[in-house]
Amino acid sequence: MSSKLINAFMAGVESRNPNEPEFHQAVEEWAEVIVPFVAKNKKYQGHGLLERMTEPDRTFQWRVTWTDDKNKVHVNRGYRVQFNNAIGPYKGGLRFHPSVNLSILKFLGFEQIYKNSLTTLPMGGGKGGSDFDPKGKSDMEVMRFCQAFMSEMQKWIGQDTDVPAGDIGVGGREIGYMFGQYKKLRAEHTGVLTGKGRPYGGSLIRPEATGYGCVYFMQEMLKTKGDSIDGKICVVSGSGNVAQYTAEKLIELGGKVVTMSDSSGMIYDKAGIDAKKLKWIMNLKNVKRGRIKEYADKHKGVKYVAKGQPWTVKCDLAFPSATQNEIDAKEAKLLVKNGCIGVGEGANMPTTNGGIAVFQKAKILYSPGKASNAGGVATSGLEMSQNSLRMNWSREEVDEKLHGIMVSIHETCLEHGRVNKNYVDYVKGANIGGFVKVADAMIAQGII
Ligand code: NDP
Repeated sequence: MSSKLINAFMAGVESRNPNEPEFHQAVEEWAEVIVPFVAKNKKYQGHGLLERMTEPDRTFQWRVTWTDDKNKVHVNRGYRVQFNNAIGPYKGGLRFHPSVNLSILKFLGFEQIYKNSLTTLPMGGGKGGSDFDPKGKSDMEVMRFCQAFMSEMQKWIGQDTDVPAGDIGVGGREIGYMFGQYKKLRAEHTGVLTGKGRPYGGSLIRPEATGYGCVYFMQEMLKTKGDSIDGKICVVSGSGNVAQYTAEKLIELGGKVVTMSDSSGMIYDKAGIDAKKLKWIMNLKNVKRGRIKEYADKHKGVKYVAKGQPWTVKCDLAFPSATQNEIDAKEAKLLVKNGCIGVGEGANMPTTNGGIAVFQKAKILYSPGKASNAGGVATSGLEMSQNSLRMNWSREEVDEKLHGIMVSIHETCLEHGRVNKNYVDYVKGANIGGFVKVADAMIAQGII
């Protein structure tokens, strides 16, 4: 019965949104839990919730024209998807990557609704970005692009309307340039973006938050088994913001991080990436904007595998922290076969639905990104609060709040996802936990 309802619902989503495979994938993962949940709960029937929740409130697309250092004119595409603002202003990052298209941004915006709901903070869901590639561009080229992008987007965002942040390809540098342009055009200094630099309204711990939060979530999952991070062999993918701070917190808690990667390949350091080596990686990626391969050239006993992924390496815990669809059923099976007991998603949708099924069947600890990477947006929410209060909280205060939020998300997952004494289905827990608050708000606000 359930699968018939799910299939019928998905057929509608697919025909309304043709050629959007990533969006279909994200909705399907959600629908497998939510369609049966709604079928069992009368309260959520008769409001068109499933259809309304899978249709963005509005979507903007525009031309971004900029000139490179040789005065050549370039045209990129800019997007902002305002998906759902039932529980607060739209909130979600901006991604600058050549692969960006509407399907990817709709999947990210859709997941953001439930992630933001899980944080306990009042934030709706949105996402945006461009097919612009910041890699290999000079600072001045990135600045001109960011200014052109914001010149158009500023029409639709605001501190009480829609508050973008970073994502792949958008870090402190890009946020700074976009904030500068918004401030100039609107003549206002408000918390319209998060992930800002410290001197102009940024929050301590925001850069660390997604990675730290993901590790805090893993700590909570391990606690349900009377276990901890200490002594665990950990594989991490990516070497950007999320990967770096996931590795930092793991090392601090006694984990042994043996891999990191980028889109060109993977490094395997059997001896472990310690705090000093990680600092070297941070300088390589954030300051020199180099490639992870250089780590293997610099450090002894390190293997570099071009186009390689960390999932072939034997580990206790895995932290996919690069991009969507990094782990398919084949890689998931390999992880389970090699003895992996926990997977904490730092990236958004890094595991395909086939891969998730493998983890669920093996009953290992597996947390979907919408739960375990919510620390980033939660701390963005804390940045918004500090901006509104015209205050700055200390590092300890923000970290404690972040930790508390991750514990609370974990508790929500237990409440809605406990299957029996020994097993918690975190996919079920996160989806239902995120859904009920948004659904209750939408019902209260009427059919709009
Ligand atoms: P960054 O741009 O800082 O880093 C991304 C990393 O992933 C880089 O190492 C990049 O390598 C690698 N990568 C990107 N695309 C691919 C690809 N197609 N194949 C292999 N590797 C790839 O981004 P973030 O660390 O901010 O984001 C990583 C993930 O975490 C994304 O899924 C994002 O949506 C998610 N996320 C981020 C949050 C945040 O606060 N930043 C919050 C919640 C989720 P290369 O340098 O070669 O491109």
